[in-house]
Amino acid sequence: MSHIFARHCHASPPVAVGGKGCYLFDASGKQYLDGSGGAAVSCLGHGDPDITEAIKSQLDTLAFAHTGFFTSQPAEQLADLLIEHAPGDLDRVYLVSGGSEATEAAIKLARQYWVEKGEPQRSRLIARKQSYHGNTIGALSAGGNEWRRQQFGPLLLDVSHIDPCYEYRLRQDGESLEDYGKRAAQALEDEILRVGPETVMAFMAEPVVGATAGALAPAPGYFKHIREICDRYGVLLILDEVMCGMGRTGTLFACEQDGVAPDIACIAKGLGAGYQPIGAMLCTSAIYDAIANGSGFFQHGHTYIGHPAAAAAGHAVVNAILGRGLLERVNTQGTALAQRLEQRFGQHPHVGDLRGRGLFRGIELVEDRDTKAPFDPSRGVAAKIKKAAFAEGLACYPMSGTIDGRRGDHVLLAPPFIIEDHQLDELTDKLGRAIDAVI
Ligand code: PLP
Repeated sequence: MSHIFARHCHASPPVAVGGKGCYLFDASGKQYLDGSGGAAVSCLGHGDPDITEAIKSQLDTLAFAHTGFFTSQPAEQLADLLIEHAPGDLDRVYLVSGGSEATEAAIKLARQYWVEKGEPQRSRLIARKQSYHGNTIGALSAGGNEWRRQQFGPLLLDVSHIDPCYEYRLRQDGESLEDYGKRAAQALEDEILRVGPETVMAFMAEPVVGATAGALAPAPGYFKHIREICDRYGVLLILDEVMCGMGRTGTLFACEQDGVAPDIACIAKGLGAGYQPIGAMLCTSAIYDAIANGSGFFQHGHTYIGHPAAAAAGHAVVNAILGRGLLERVNTQGTALAQRLEQRFGQHPHVGDLRGRGLFRGIELVEDRDTKAPFDPSRGVAAKIKKAAFAEGLACYPMSGTIDGRRGDHVLLAPPFIIEDHQLDELTDKLGRAIDAVI
């Protein structure tokens, strides 16, 4: 009997024993194509010698030095590299161990900023339905995924959730994409005015929504309107790039494609690429200075923040993404994947929408293409597809999100940036067989 407390208590997953390039191997020797990089983590694929060497060498030099006493070379180098390539006025980097830690830190930073600025009544966060920002209590409060939040209701913060920018379901007939983007953003201003601008500390959103919506990119202009609205009312803009950042959509930060920069950005997953647990919160000097010139102390921290081996991994990963031309590769292979998905699923009776950017692609599954009705949740379509794909030798990320108050299903694809054309064929074939076997 295993003593591991697995989140799926009744599953007995195979034992992973190796990884090479785009493939993972289990103890029986079975090979799996990593079609989702776990959950958009393994952007460089498995067994990258440059990254493991950077970690080994750092561990040989210095494994740990508590940030209450020291900074470290890799942490400083990573912060410099991120800021060199970060959009807008982002100027400071707070290194953490993963995505939830980054979003939790962002929420606390936004709150402390307003306290230090003498506006302590600003305590309300506005976020969106159809979003996931992590599993710690603050991050879970920000996320709009009803299924994940259900049992924890009494513990969660009072957060406003507005509609996401979800063209496939919420754009009206005859409405242009631009008009829809403007109308979707207007929901933020409406909510700010409803609750009182003086009470709002920040708005948090994923530039391209990952786990809860399946690579849902915004309509053109949406985030520009969001930025303007935030500025009008002094509301901080927090962009959660934990899943969509670090090159996944074809630019280092996804928001670059929307022509906006946040006050606070959160990154993780692709930053460590699976080689180390690491995340980061980036903020502007205006926010940092408010704290530096106020109490002088960010009232937040964890023992493992700024871990030298994790920072060394992050530094090597970002250097690899930028230095090996992988952003360009994400764009070419992303287009190649989108074409294959269109060919295979464009006319599929149960595929309602194909979407995404770069190597971040989503397939929304529906019972009925004409009415867009989702499958009944009791059919467990996403879970069954995950199982069928796994049996085929494909690891992908089917999930259920909440659509118009009902659960709907989608498949998220986020393969390593190094994926080859023949592996894109393999991915599409295996996924097609898995979907057809289930619905
Ligand atoms: N934010 C987003 C957008 C995510 O997709 C996730 C994880 O899926 C998180 C935050 C939480 O990250 P982690 O699982 O590393 O805590």
